[in-house]
This record gives sequence, structure tokens and C-alpha cells, in this order.
Amino acid sequence: MKASPSTKRISPTPSAAKPVAPKRKAKTAAPGDKYAVIRRDLEQQRRIILAEAVEGLANPNGQEALPDVSDQASVEADQNFSMRIREREQRLVKKIDEALGRIDQNIYGICERCEEEIPYPRLKARPVTTLCIDCKTLEEQEEKARR
Ligand SMILES: [Zn+2]
Repeated sequence: MKASPSTKRISPTPSAAKPVAPKRKAKTAAPGDKYAVIRRDLEQQRRIILAEAVEGLANPNGQEALPDVSDQASVEADQNFSMRIREREQRLVKKIDEALGRIDQNIYGICERCEEEIPYPRLKARPVTTLCIDCKTLEEQEEKARR
């Protein structure tokens, strides 16, 4: 019988001994860096939407088996429904592309209406938005009034 040599070795330097870099005051981030996290979110969201769209094409019904094929009306309703979803996805992808374009042009996060900077938490929550909360509220009120 062979004695298996131990592969485990105790590290001579514990990770806690790592020298801590002196904290430097962060310079104002380059305009592009300011929204690096949001850019990553947008790109990820875009990938997910497109991946789902491809899945939808491979399986247009979005279902393995229809429980009741005789119910033609609900099949058509389903198709209308998935078409509407696809339209919504396309609009969202367009909005994401536009937002990414604005980041590239360093005009991202500026309200289209009042040209004030949109607060970061709002952008983080709704990265494709082009309006600050005040202008968005105004717009919604105007839309309501038009109806
Ligand atoms: Zn505004």
C-alpha cells in the first residue's frame, strides 16, 4: 500500500498579511466611468432579452404542449400576447441601445425636458429613463389630461 502524500500545504503567508494600499482621495471619475455599473446593467439586460427572443423563435408557442388544442381562440390570444411581448421587447432593446449611445456620448443621465442631471438612484432603478422624476410626473399628468 502506498502512502499518499498530502497535497494540502499550509500557506506560509496568511492573506490577512496583505499590505493595505493607502487610501487616496478618488479623483472625479471620467464621464464614462460614472455610469459603468449602469452600462453593465443595460448590456446584461439587453443580452437577456435577446437570448429570450432567440428562444421564442426556436419555440414560437413558448410552450412544450398545448393542453387543449381545440381551444383555438386561446391559442390565437396566446400568439397575440407573445407578439405584444416581442414588440415590447423590441422597444426596450431600442431604449437600451439609445441609453448606451447616450453613455458613449456623455449625455447620459441628463433630463430631456429640464436638462437637469437625473439623480443616480433613479437611473439605477430605471436606466433607460430620459426624464427626471419631476418631469416624468408632469408628463404623466399631461397624458392623463389629454385622455
Ligand atoms: Zn427634468
